Amino acid sequence: MIPGSFTYHRPKSLPEALALLADLGDDARPLAGGQSLIPLMKFRMATPANLIDLSAISDLKGIRVVGSDIVLGAMTTQYEMIGSDLMADKVPLMREAAGLVADPQVRYMGTVGGNAANGDPGNDMPAIMMALGAIYTLASKTGTRQVPARDFYKGLYYTALEPGEMITAINIPVPAKGHGYAYNKLKRKIGDYATAAAAVMLTLSGGKVASCAITLTNVADHALYAEEASRLVLGTEIDASAIKRAAAAAEDIATPAADNHGPVEYRKKMAGVMVARALARAKVRAAD
Ligand code: FAD
Repeated sequence: MIPGSFTYHRPKSLPEALALLADLGDDARPLAGGQSLIPLMKFRMATPANLIDLSAISDLKGIRVVGSDIVLGAMTTQYEMIGSDLMADKVPLMREAAGLVADPQVRYMGTVGGNAANGDPGNDMPAIMMALGAIYTLASKTGTRQVPARDFYKGLYYTALEPGEMITAINIPVPAKGHGYAYNKLKRKIGDYATAAAAVMLTLSGGKVASCAITLTNVADHALYAEEASRLVLGTEIDASAIKRAAAAAEDIATPAADNHGPVEYRKKMAGVMVARALARAKVRAAD
């Protein structure tokens, strides 16, 4: 349970960090909150020769409004997200989900950028970012580019990040006033990763669903945007049959592994159950 040896770098600016990432190549990993990376290093499942600690870079911190977006610095912690009145007011889904990540100690250190970049299907932020239509800003020594969260996840620990790139910020379009939202997470005990979880964002118009995004955590090798399930509730009043159809569509795309969270069939079923519960809660919370 002791990591291999590594060289520790603590750049004070983003250009300095990006230069280190570029120069050290595959031998280097950014270190954010360390709540996923350090355990992996202790088990020797990751053995980076260089750690680039991002904690002294002030440009990567903070939650602010820019135009019609809320912009989260990659080093914003889950704890800061939960404590933010701005998030509570404008993006309550984020606050709800952040409160379900791990336990207070992990949330105090763990960052939104680290959670989003990690590529572990058990992380909660990817599905939340997909539901919110978030856009990631990826920076390297040679420039920046923007990638929608829905296009970022490719497979198990496999994302759109290219060598030398890191997430610097996440833009969340401010959701419509009166939107409905919910994150339902089934877990075996407090502080656990999801057995299955579903996020819902929706708006109503004249009592019917005008827009809807449903996303799933930990029921495939990466977070899923349940496009067909989302489509199936459009124009409905989220009655029992619409919920049933959406839940079934979500189960259809779930391809969980059998692991200590349960067998495949159970976890697929739970994906549907989480969607059904999240839709019902989002409906109650939505104002027409
Ligand atoms: P780190 O551990 O520092 O980094 C994670 C990975 O991302 C590393 O590969 C690192 O190089 C890379 N990275 C970090 N920042 C960036 C960046 N800005 N750009 C590019 N790459 C970057 N998470 C959940 O979502 N839900 C849970 O229920 C949950 N339960 C947990 C329970 C325990 C006991 C523990 C220890 C962790 C748990 N986690 C859970 C993980 C936790 O939320 C981590 O904080 C999170 O996965 C990673 O964030 P971090 O800031 O700690 O990143």
